[in-house]
Amino acid sequence: MATSEQLVLAGTRTPSADGKTFTVYEPATGAELAEVAYASVEDVDRAVAAAVTAQESWADQAPSARAAVLHRWADLVEARAEELAVLQTRENGLTIRESRGMLWATSALLRYSADAVDKIVGETIPNDAGGLLMTQREPLGVVAAITAWNAPIAMAAQKAGPALVTGNTVVLKPSELAPLTSLIFGDLASEAGLPEGCLSILPGDGSVGRALVENRAVARVTFTGSTATGQDIALRAASTFKRLTLELGGKSAAIVFADADLDRVCAVAPEAMFGLAGQDCCARSRLLIHESVYDQVIEGYARTSARLKVGDPLDETTDLGPLISVAQRDRVHGFVEESVADGAVVVTGGAKPAGLPEGGGWYVPTVLTGVRPDMRVAQEEVFGPVVSVIPFATEEEAIRLANDTQYGLSGSIWTGNIARAIRVSRKVKSGVLAVNSNTSNYLQAPFGGVKQSGIGRANGLAGLEANTELKTLFMDGT
Ligand code: NDP
Repeated sequence: MATSEQLVLAGTRTPSADGKTFTVYEPATGAELAEVAYASVEDVDRAVAAAVTAQESWADQAPSARAAVLHRWADLVEARAEELAVLQTRENGLTIRESRGMLWATSALLRYSADAVDKIVGETIPNDAGGLLMTQREPLGVVAAITAWNAPIAMAAQKAGPALVTGNTVVLKPSELAPLTSLIFGDLASEAGLPEGCLSILPGDGSVGRALVENRAVARVTFTGSTATGQDIALRAASTFKRLTLELGGKSAAIVFADADLDRVCAVAPEAMFGLAGQDCCARSRLLIHESVYDQVIEGYARTSARLKVGDPLDETTDLGPLISVAQRDRVHGFVEESVADGAVVVTGGAKPAGLPEGGGWYVPTVLTGVRPDMRVAQEEVFGPVVSVIPFATEEEAIRLANDTQYGLSGSIWTGNIARAIRVSRKVKSGVLAVNSNTSNYLQAPFGGVKQSGIGRANGLAGLEANTELKTLFMDGT
């Protein structure tokens, strides 16, 4: 039975000004999940105006008081974590195990921001004028947060936590494909004591995002989504010089050298490709293998991949849920068909699995060999469970191939040689990188991309500082 959801406007559930709604569908079945209020431009203006009004007194609260609200918010998220994990799985198709991990990250991100409230500091600067020359960090004002559907509630925490704790107020637009957990996240903020006006959650399509980006009272936009949308936001934001953080797409490489622990690579590296059914900005969607161990690694990697279970995302034993929609699955399959027509070979996968509901966007883990680096499948973000395998002969060639896309988000270097790990990690152009590990995204450390993968950094203290402006202050001492 589909539920009915209103906006969270200035902290209170409210219908949209023009009464419009849209339908959210469950990716696993295609069934209707909820009817959601569709924010209008008038709602955007009201939410931003409320955020402007609320900002000064919120920023004037003691830092410890702001931090306390975030800790209470995290408590409430934890108390409802299982319910929210199930809801996220139903709205975006991630497996229940993945959703639980993201709920853990949601409260951890809030607590990190809360605990960092007194770590965002200015400095005193030696000067010849006989006074005190210093910098202080001030909030920017109203922050617009625009999120993608693949990790909606964790992204909401990643953006709202640092912005709020540093004294800003926030208007958040979740993806129209998966807005439900973000709305409850907004309810919990009010329940935790966040003052009226400090946070609005406005579902709707790209027009809501555009209205936020174009609103003159918004000081900063923090966005997670595709490179094309990021470019549109940067252009529109330029007219008012909004501060921007853009977390965009990726085409990251896992580079496997012959001296790596190959058994471990074959056992664990597929997880960094097929987690979130490949709908991960950091997915290692290119697998570069040294030619001397090429056959051995493909055989082991494909064996692990073929064992992954595709199916009901609420089943604890499922490894890959459905893609976000049947249309996305068909787009992914189109990449595979095109590359096969161009000479690529499907080692495993390349099809939708049998026996699952027709309305779901199912696709099996797919390993493609015979991929030339210039093929579309090796250059563009597929955002589905498809890895392109490419051999290399030398370290220099591996680095050149790794850098041979417009993106620069993440990657993994697998080697037993520490000097090689240091050399190669210096040369791979990416915002984050892992050596002998799948994981390069930690909430305590800066996260973001270079090249067309974005600008700015989330997470860590850098993620809080991005919500502040440096003011220089001189106090005469003579
Ligand atoms: P989109 O760029 O399509 O959408 C992202 C958000 O922007 C959605 O809320 C969307 O609304 C909104 N939007 C769409 N058009 C505009 C516009 N012109 N102005 C303002 N907002 C707009 O990305 P997806 O949702 O499809 O997400 C997948 C992408 O996100 C992939 O490229 C992936 O790599 C990237 N991503 C990056 C991450 C990172 O940290 N680097 C992490 C996760 C994902 P709506 O969808 O409702 O229309």
